[in-house]
Amino acid sequence: MERTPPTTAQVALSGVHKRFGDLEVLKGVDIEVGSGEVVVLIGASGSGKSTLLRIMCDLERADRGEVWVNGVPLHDRKRAPEIFGHVGMVFQQFNLFPHRTALGNVTLALLKVRKISRKAADERGREALARVGLADKADAYPAQLSGGQQQRVAIARALAMDPAVMFFDEPTSALDPELVGEVTGVMRSLADEGMTMVVVTHEMRFARDTADHVVFMDGGVVLEQGTPERVFGSPAEARTQQFLHRVL
Ligand code: ADP
Ligand code: MG
Repeated sequence: MERTPPTTAQVALSGVHKRFGDLEVLKGVDIEVGSGEVVVLIGASGSGKSTLLRIMCDLERADRGEVWVNGVPLHDRKRAPEIFGHVGMVFQQFNLFPHRTALGNVTLALLKVRKISRKAADERGREALARVGLADKADAYPAQLSGGQQQRVAIARALAMDPAVMFFDEPTSALDPELVGEVTGVMRSLADEGMTMVVVTHEMRFARDTADHVVFMDGGVVLEQGTPERVFGSPAEARTQQFLHRVL
């Protein structure tokens, strides 16, 4: 029987399990992300954060459990494809096409997937670039941009599709430290505009400043979660304390 999604949650996972061969990577994960909420996933390497995010984007399929994104039950394989186009994804690697300008990268999916006119795509693309502070870089090629600027183009590319939810997997991990702030700054402004976001990051300052909710993953389970004040200020679990001690 199909359960209805939790009333206000825009992203909801219930009892999500995933294994790769003998390795059980997710061992029953429940998460809810309300509309306009920013949820930050933290945890050691290998704890299952990326797998969880990939399941939310339907890039990976859960073995068991239920997943809803923007009202679409991804566990219903007939409906899962609906979610493409409604979610934005930003990864550690920017994956820009080197022979296309910033604007060309941002408009590509609008032209090829949405099939809107060049004029309308360019307009939306320029708007998206303006939102990430790169209005003046529309005609620049990726090689002419810093890593931080390239990642902002990747964010603009996702924004141009007008996503209901944005997923970020370690968006600043490939950047030189001095470039991290411009990317987290853009993410902060999206959060302030009310974008629903799920973010895997090691940037604990971003998590502290921007997250509504912090989820600590450990060994394929949510070990602890709560407000940033609670999780960072008074972590209940020894494993959380150890992790925070290492990264803070
Ligand atoms: P995190 O993002 O927290 O570092 P991941 O979700 O990437 O964790 O990985 C969790 C575990 O699953 C790791 O042990 C990783 O090696 C393994 N894993 C992830 N993807 C695959 C895959 N496609 N095939 C096999 N093992 C995988
Ligand atoms: Mg990862």
